[in-house]
Amino acid sequence: MPIPAESTAITIQRLSISPVSNSVISRHVAVIGAGAAGLVTARELRRKGHSVVVFERGDQVGGTWVYTAMVESDCLGLDPTRTKVHSSLYGSLRTNLPREAMGFSDYPFFYRDDPDRDPRRFPGHREVLMYLKDFAREFRICELVRFETEVVRVRLMEGSKWNVKSRKRDEDEAGFDEIFDAVVVCNGHHTEPRIAWIPGMNEWPGKQMHSHNYRVPEPFRDQVVVLIGSSASAVDISQDIAGVAKEVHIAARTVGDETFGKQPGYDNMWLHPMIGSVSGDGTVYFQDGSFVLADVILHCTGYKYDFPFLETNGVVTVDDNRVGPLYKHVFPPALAPWLSFVGLTWKVIPFPMFELQSKWIAGVLSNQLMLPSQEEMMEDVETLYSSLEAAGTPKRYTHCMGISQFEYNSWLAAQCGCPGNEEWRVQMYHAHGRNKLARSKAFRDEWEDHHLVLQAHEDFIKYTSNGVSDKCVSE
Ligand code: FAD
Repeated sequence: MPIPAESTAITIQRLSISPVSNSVISRHVAVIGAGAAGLVTARELRRKGHSVVVFERGDQVGGTWVYTAMVESDCLGLDPTRTKVHSSLYGSLRTNLPREAMGFSDYPFFYRDDPDRDPRRFPGHREVLMYLKDFAREFRICELVRFETEVVRVRLMEGSKWNVKSRKRDEDEAGFDEIFDAVVVCNGHHTEPRIAWIPGMNEWPGKQMHSHNYRVPEPFRDQVVVLIGSSASAVDISQDIAGVAKEVHIAARTVGDETFGKQPGYDNMWLHPMIGSVSGDGTVYFQDGSFVLADVILHCTGYKYDFPFLETNGVVTVDDNRVGPLYKHVFPPALAPWLSFVGLTWKVIPFPMFELQSKWIAGVLSNQLMLPSQEEMMEDVETLYSSLEAAGTPKRYTHCMGISQFEYNSWLAAQCGCPGNEEWRVQMYHAHGRNKLARSKAFRDEWEDHHLVLQAHEDFIKYTSNGVSDKCVSE
């Protein structure tokens, strides 16, 4: 889906980026969103001396981690006029990464000795929000944030400047226009549901919803629920619901045939191949011919990238969940470095990657780091697209990384002249992956990588003893 083009044609004039220079340049930069990505981006930009405005439509920092019991008016997320809720968190959510690995590299996510905090290695969602609030407080980010202020339009102007129109909640209907040198988009990508299209779904009489609107299991008591998906959320939610539902049937595309059938440890959960079709009498047919009469279909089928405010004259588009073209998932070559994105990648350890992406952006904007030419960046993008195509990888996996995240992080770190992945963090990610496979129900409470936890804590001492980190801070 292309991002809407502007009505007036605009010449994209790419300002030349001079070679690495000693004279540090300060830019006026708009950051959209005060989630983990926007917070660390604001910190890195300010460290490089840029003047930063963070626009946040919510009333607090934290983005996804601000849990709300509210759900949207259209639970499937198809109605574009529905009232939107940003966060997709459910009440029982505990992190799916160990906290040592999850935190920013220089602001460790360790347990604070406070009875109000969650000491667990895989804490509940509130603890993550508290951590992000601590981070914002430590680095005085809130003073840069305009809360309850939604960016409604980002328009490219002549001369590569950006017109940013924002609207304060309950105020100025017309909005407020400002000019910025650069815009960093940190708006998150877990808000706009992607739905599995199923033959017959419009006639199916039961309740359909997307996991974006799942909060607590109680409404599913005694119901027969078919849940589509096999992601971390799908696994969590199926276990949550199994505690109260009559039956839980999981329809998954990406599991081996041998795992289909009744699930060990449950007397009311079955794993099936994908749904083939559904019918008006309430039956759900799976692709292997088996079927159930169900009350609810719960789509745990992921999210769409969405930038409703962005007008780039068609330079940046979203096509089957590929945002592009983007050099290294961050800069659109034709608009670099004046437009950039932090946090598009998935199946990664997000926070430390956001940190590296934002260091890179901040360094390039201050002329301390150099980007290749537009043509070279485009070539790099084309090479990525060709390799994905050759491997038969659908476009929607363009920003999916998995283990290649560590090579990517090392590349970013090398650009910035920073230390890359800590060895313990890499090893912990792998150990955690193995533990999750071995203990799908208990991985958050039982593990074997105690030596890596110790190594992480040894590493953390250098940040906690000085208070604020001095790692890679060159103002
Ligand atoms: P968000 O946190 O979504 O923040 C985006 C911000 O932008 C929001 O505050 C929003 O209000 C604001 N915004 C959006 N549009 C506008 C606009 N037009 N104007 C102004 N403001 C705007 N990660 C982990 O590391 N560990 C986990 O265990 C983990 N579990 C997860 C579980 C779930 C269910 C989900 C959905 C995600 C999970 N993640 C986890 C990934 C999580 O998304 C990232 O950790 C991270 O929080 C993403 O941060 P972000 O800043 O990119 O986006």
